[in-house]
Amino acid sequence: IPHKLVVANWKMHGNLARNQVLIKEYLQALNPLAQTKVVVCVPYPYLAQIQILLANTGVAWGAQNLAKFEQGAHTGEVSAEMLKDFGAQYVIIGHSERSTAYCESDENIAEKFMMAKRHGLTPILCVGETLLEREAGVMTRVVGKQLETIIRLFGAGAFAESIVSYEPIWAIGTGLAASAEQAVAMHQFIRDTVAAADSAAASTLKILYGGSVNPQNAVQLLNQKEIDGALVGRCSLDAEQFIKICQAVP
Ligand code: 13P
Repeated sequence: IPHKLVVANWKMHGNLARNQVLIKEYLQALNPLAQTKVVVCVPYPYLAQIQILLANTGVAWGAQNLAKFEQGAHTGEVSAEMLKDFGAQYVIIGHSERSTAYCESDENIAEKFMMAKRHGLTPILCVGETLLEREAGVMTRVVGKQLETIIRLFGAGAFAESIVSYEPIWAIGTGLAASAEQAVAMHQFIRDTVAAADSAAASTLKILYGGSVNPQNAVQLLNQKEIDGALVGRCSLDAEQFIKICQAVP
């Protein structure tokens, strides 16, 4: 059975002192959890710190964004090579908190996804619908379009060994997670969409759920065979809660 994956998304939280305590607390409980792969995605300035704290621990780390360019005159941007310099193996792409606030298009997100792949970083592509879109019943059309942009520009083979995280926007930071039933239906749709274009790639794709995951709902969510893991925001900032989520993996 492939390992389930629990990814912490710290978002724009933390400082040097607090990170050190949080990581120490994570590690005290996480080391024996061989059946769960754990990844911590931190703000750029803390990559150097996290590289030292997590070296040789079995816990991997990553960033929350990257530039769609290799290098050059792009003030304020951070390249894939720079993330690699700090040992990052993962990068979150297209999180809704970025795509809405900074007007990232599906095309931009697709280019970032491929940039990560080209440099051997595992992209964690966030997809998901708004509440209005769910109420209108168009959620699969919305998520389908997000996936299709990558398939159209780069081919579905891009999804091999990649990660998609289903993050309904109405569930992010609201305390209102999707039900296991809603998540499973969307996860099946995501895998089917990729499989229709490239079944081999789809079989190596991991699909996470993100949006108000907590120790209570994690048990049911992570027990679904369609749910390969979780992308955890708020509860990743509290070691006790984060560890409980990791321990919810069957
Ligand atoms: P919360 O877990 O705080 O809802 O955040 C989810 C998220 O956006 C993970 O990327």
